[in-house]
Amino acid sequence: MSKLKPILPGSTIGVLGSGQLGRMFAIAARRMGYRVHTFSPDEDTPTGQVADVEMKAPYEDLDAVCRFAKAVSVVTFEFENVPAATAEAAGRCAPVRPAGEVLHTTQHRLREKTFLSGKGFPLTHFRRVGSRQELAGAIEAIGVPAILKTADFGYDGKGQYRIKSVSDLDAAWQAVGEREAVLEARVDFERELSVVGVRNIQGEFLHYGPIENHHENGILDTSMSPAHVSEPVAREAAEIARAVLEELGVIGVLCVEFFLKKDGKLLINELAPRPHNSGHYTVDANLTSQFEQQLRAVCLLPLGGIQQWTPAAMVNLLGDLWKGGEPDWARAAALNDVKLHLYGKSEPRPGRKMGHLTALSTSAATARAEAARARQSLAR
Ligand code: AMP
Repeated sequence: MSKLKPILPGSTIGVLGSGQLGRMFAIAARRMGYRVHTFSPDEDTPTGQVADVEMKAPYEDLDAVCRFAKAVSVVTFEFENVPAATAEAAGRCAPVRPAGEVLHTTQHRLREKTFLSGKGFPLTHFRRVGSRQELAGAIEAIGVPAILKTADFGYDGKGQYRIKSVSDLDAAWQAVGEREAVLEARVDFERELSVVGVRNIQGEFLHYGPIENHHENGILDTSMSPAHVSEPVAREAAEIARAVLEELGVIGVLCVEFFLKKDGKLLINELAPRPHNSGHYTVDANLTSQFEQQLRAVCLLPLGGIQQWTPAAMVNLLGDLWKGGEPDWARAAALNDVKLHLYGKSEPRPGRKMGHLTALSTSAATARAEAARARQSLAR
C-alpha cells in the first residue's frame, strides 16, 4: 500500500513528452518544490528547458523508459500519442497516472468514440472506415457534409479531410493516408466549448468551465472563460465531464471538448487526457491552475481551490506571427492586463504553437478583444 501514500514536495515526477504542456506542468511542480524529469526523443525541449533532467530516447526504447520510471515517484504524460507500450513499460517500473488504459482509449479516435457511445454519451454520427469501399458506404450512410479523420495520431485538425460531396471520396481517402479512419457527420454548431476536469484518487471532481473556444484551420485560436452559455448548458457540460472522468477512472486532468448545437444540445467532439490548451488561462486567472491540479492529483494530494479571480481570454501565438521577423515582445510587456507565455521553441513554423497571451478583464468578451488586440500589436 506504500504506493498510495501522497508523493510529497521534494519528490521527483516523471513526464512522458516534452512540449509546452509539460513545461507548464514542470513550472507548477517546481514552484511546489518537486523535481521533474522529462522523457522524449528530442532535446532542448520546452519541458526539458525547465526540468531537472531531460532524457532523450525513442519512446520505443522500453529499457530506457523503465530506467526513467525507476528514477521518479510517479509518471504522468503531457502528450497522448505516447505509444501504449511505452506507458505500459513505465507502469511496470513506477505508478502511472492517469493509468495507461486512459491513454490507450483516448489516443485512438475510434476506440474513444466506441467507448463513449457504449456508455451513452452524446456524439455526432460516426462510422469506422477501413477501405475506400467502406468510405463510400459510410458517406452514403452519414451523408454530406462530413469529416474524415485518421483513427490515430490526430490533433489540431491534422489528418482530417472535409468532405463536401461524394466526389471528394478519393481525395479524402488519400488525405488520411489510405488507413483506418472515422467518418463523422459535420456538426452545424453554435459554439465550441470545453470543460477541463480533474479527479483525484478519492473520486473527488473539480472543473474549469465551460470554456468557449474558437478554432482557425482546425487549430485552437482563442479561449474565453466564462463561456457565453445558459446555466443549464453549463451544468450539463460539467456533468458530462464529471461522468467521463469517472467512467474512465481518471486520476489527473482530462479535457472534454464539446459542440453546442443550435438547439442547445451538447455533443462530445473529443477527449484529451491531460491539461489542455483551452485551460491555459487558469495559470493567470485561477487560484489553482490546471497544471497544479494535475500535479496534486497524480501526487495523491488534495485538489486545489478552483476560484477564478476575473474573466479571462487566451489567444495562441502560432509560428505564423514570426512571418515579418521576431514579434515585438516589448509591446506585450507594456500591457498591464495581458500576460505573455512563450514555450522556448526556436523554430517558428506556420501553425506551430509557440506561446500564448492571456488577458484579464471585467468580461470574457472584453478580455478576448484585449487579447486579440495585443496579439495584433506584436506582429512586425
Ligand atoms: P479535432 O482535432 O477533431 O478536435 O478537430 C478540430 C476542429 O475541427 C474542431 O474543434 C472543430 O472546429 C472542427 N471539427 C472537427 N470535427 C467536426 C465536426 N464533426 N463537425 C464540425 N466541425 C468539426
